[in-house]
Amino acid sequence: MIKKNQLKEELTELDKKHFIHPTSNMKQLQEEGPSFIFTEGDGIYLKDMEGRTLMDSLSSLWNVNIGHGRKELGEAAKAQMEKLAFTSTFSNWSHEPAIRLAAEVAKWTPGDLNATFFTSGGSEANDTAFKTVRHYWKLKGHPEKKKIISRKKSYHGVAMGSTSATGIPEFHTFTESIAPDFYYVDSTIESLKELIEKEGADSIAAFISEPVQGSGGVNLPSEGYFEEVRKICDKHHILLISDEVICGFGRTGTHFGMENFGIIPDIITMAKGVTSGYAPLGGMIISEKLHQEIYEKAEGNFWHGYTYSGHPTAAAVALKNLEIIKNENLIDNVNRMGEEMLKGFKWIQEQNKQVIDVRGIGLLGAISIDRKSADVAPVGPKVVAEALKRGLICRSVVYDGQDTLAFAPPFVINKKQMDEMITIVDESIRAVN
Ligand code: PLP
Repeated sequence: MIKKNQLKEELTELDKKHFIHPTSNMKQLQEEGPSFIFTEGDGIYLKDMEGRTLMDSLSSLWNVNIGHGRKELGEAAKAQMEKLAFTSTFSNWSHEPAIRLAAEVAKWTPGDLNATFFTSGGSEANDTAFKTVRHYWKLKGHPEKKKIISRKKSYHGVAMGSTSATGIPEFHTFTESIAPDFYYVDSTIESLKELIEKEGADSIAAFISEPVQGSGGVNLPSEGYFEEVRKICDKHHILLISDEVICGFGRTGTHFGMENFGIIPDIITMAKGVTSGYAPLGGMIISEKLHQEIYEKAEGNFWHGYTYSGHPTAAAVALKNLEIIKNENLIDNVNRMGEEMLKGFKWIQEQNKQVIDVRGIGLLGAISIDRKSADVAPVGPKVVAEALKRGLICRSVVYDGQDTLAFAPPFVINKKQMDEMITIVDESIRAVN
């Protein structure tokens, strides 16, 4: 026991001194140390150094979709590393895992979206998409089509382009400068139409949107929204990018989120669920039409590439992960458990007057609490603290007057575990009142 405490103390001090955490409160780290030091994962549970076993209701960062601790992925990584740990894919060099993964992804996508450029994650995938659409319009003789439109409350990552497309103000005010040629609209058709009218369609390259906004508070689109967006984009020759970094590969109960709304984007960006977080990998998937137009018109290189584009080990892990999702019919479970989750949320709303909205699609859902006014301290963080005491990790989204709890449990959650999650959330909301 003494040994364990010593180790925790040692790690805490090393962490505070040497580890700069992503999207975290630096002062809080210095005052309190890391909020968790995790040691193991198994299914929907994580263990930490305190010896706590905690239900992971957000699949860590909306990504550990097949759940923690799947040995097959470790074995796939080991086998690939031992055989060919790395080689470049620049200059048309290739290897089997990346080729097979690109071909496998094409089986999952709707329409003719069947050519993939690989990245290490979602931010790079979106930056790749922004550069690709501008390159495409340049090749087509329209270099002036370079503006990117995104929605307020969207999250598209933190590389320079993806930060600039992100519609959550804190990510912009963090620095004094973001990239030019990014514009934001409210999530209404009128707002999109107004902006196109104001800026001129001949200056706009693409519109990017998550099918369901994740980090912005699990916001579902209004009825018919994306059908109308698709029509507007077609009318004005604006490419439609669907950021499926959270929604892709089954999270919303379909292969990709936009399928729920019956539309096919020109470009999909993906990451997270493609490997269930077991290895860093993302990508941009483009339609056959776009692919062909680009390579037919291209002169010289596609001047864009990451050292880890198509990393063999990450690709081998992704292939195994997608095989598991298919073989174990995990998307069927997403739909079944998604219904249970929403039913549970509705029950919570009936029990708790301060819950003003519940929503969900597949295993992506949220509970919004009445904040009354922006001056009142949000309730969400207190609910999160109460849930933790009861063995549940969940996430609170607080900004712009929102006081929301977000949920995205692993695809492998069962009915008993879902009931437990709902019970804990209900108890935790009651406990703060
Ligand atoms: N797009 C969406 C919708 C996301 O949720 C995220 C990450 O949460 C990203 C892009 C950025 O991905 P990454 O953190 O892998 O760069």
